[in-house]
Amino acid sequence: MISRNDALPAEQSARYYIDASWFEENGLSFPDILRVRMCESCQTKPMGEIEEAPPPAELPARSRRQAQLYSGRLAAFQASKANRGDPVKTIRDCCSKRKNFIQPEMPTMEAIFRVCLANGNQPITLEHVREQLAEWCPGGGCQWLTLPIETLARLVQNDRYYGIRPLGGVLAGAR
Ligand SMILES: [Zn+2]
Repeated sequence: MISRNDALPAEQSARYYIDASWFEENGLSFPDILRVRMCESCQTKPMGEIEEAPPPAELPARSRRQAQLYSGRLAAFQASKANRGDPVKTIRDCCSKRKNFIQPEMPTMEAIFRVCLANGNQPITLEHVREQLAEWCPGGGCQWLTLPIETLARLVQNDRYYGIRPLGGVLAGAR
């Protein structure tokens, strides 16, 4: 058991991030974990599947209009290709902007995990996490918003499912 006195101020000012390697070490697939957090339209697009690049045969610009169409399709292709290898970016740029990405009834760790994703998994302090959570809870009464920072820190430290660890530190839940 961890006593109340174990929460150090240093741990509260630490910046946290999701360690992708933690999932592999624990026999879990990080891409799969991310995928279920994606919005419906990103989920229905299989991750390995991208739109084909326009065939070169269409390249000769017979008209200015065709050339414009081609460059538009090429840009869309390149954008989908760029996002394909990085589900974190997909979530940051698309899914986390959707209305129900974080919901009041979600478990606290789930909400913290999603804030990390919405930030593109840039290391973040728990204070900052809570500021962002506030944006998802206009009424202010959500369970995960009313918790003190030290409780959030303890939850993250004791967690065994989300692979969130302090930058430069060890993950308490790793076995
Ligand atoms: Zn999406």
